[in-house]
Amino acid sequence: MTRRPYIVGNWKMHGTRAMLSEARAIDRAAQRHMKVEVALAPPFTLIHPIHREAEQISVGAQDCHHAEGGAHTGDISAAMVADAGAKFVILGHSERREAHGESDSLVRAKAGAALAAGLRIIMCCGESAKTRDSGRAVAFVKKQLKGSLPSAEEVNGDIAERITVAYEPIWAIGTGTAATVEDIAQMHAEIRGLLVELYGEEQGGAVRILYGGSVKPDNAAEIFAVPDVGGALVGGASLTADSFMGIALAA
Ligand code: PGA
Repeated sequence: MTRRPYIVGNWKMHGTRAMLSEARAIDRAAQRHMKVEVALAPPFTLIHPIHREAEQISVGAQDCHHAEGGAHTGDISAAMVADAGAKFVILGHSERREAHGESDSLVRAKAGAALAAGLRIIMCCGESAKTRDSGRAVAFVKKQLKGSLPSAEEVNGDIAERITVAYEPIWAIGTGTAATVEDIAQMHAEIRGLLVELYGEEQGGAVRILYGGSVKPDNAAEIFAVPDVGGALVGGASLTADSFMGIALAA
């Protein structure tokens, strides 16, 4: 079974209600390109407003807490983002691993909470420039994913439907320079091997692996042509409908 290309916008800490017009434009354009699955992860505050209006795109969160509820000032649970209309959550993004000290085991606990709340997850992984230069990128990413992904039993359902992996080398995020197609091909093949090991040939073979890190309309087509690239996780270029849908059109 081949799934539709999955193009996900990660708005990070960008977006007030003034950005709703951009989300509307993305939704309208997505209705004309149904062969691509388009999704947006705005800040928490815009999940519900975008969900309420969207007809085609799905809306997700950029994080959630691992606990069901309780004394966690300032945190948001998986059930809360689901209640606001989120259908998925991005987990383990390098900006959270770095700025919030999120470990693999914490990310894995969040994945369990998200799945229990009925959300799909986009599990991020990726190495730093230092790790790549030392020649340990593949080993690092595999270890990170092994520590962060839920087991097949925990997913308890259609694994390829509920889990997506995003490979985002840290040195390519927000730098304007994406990884080379050779680097992407090598890492995605390694990740595919790991997914098959974890979830079996059929399900592990069908999980979509997104590439993220300086994806733009002008490099999207060559990235999407790489084997085992099932779409993109897009930061900066997802902030305007023009550039984001330029990427989606290339898929
Ligand atoms: P970028 O960010 O597209 O701005 O490089 C990607 C990401 O961090 O998800």
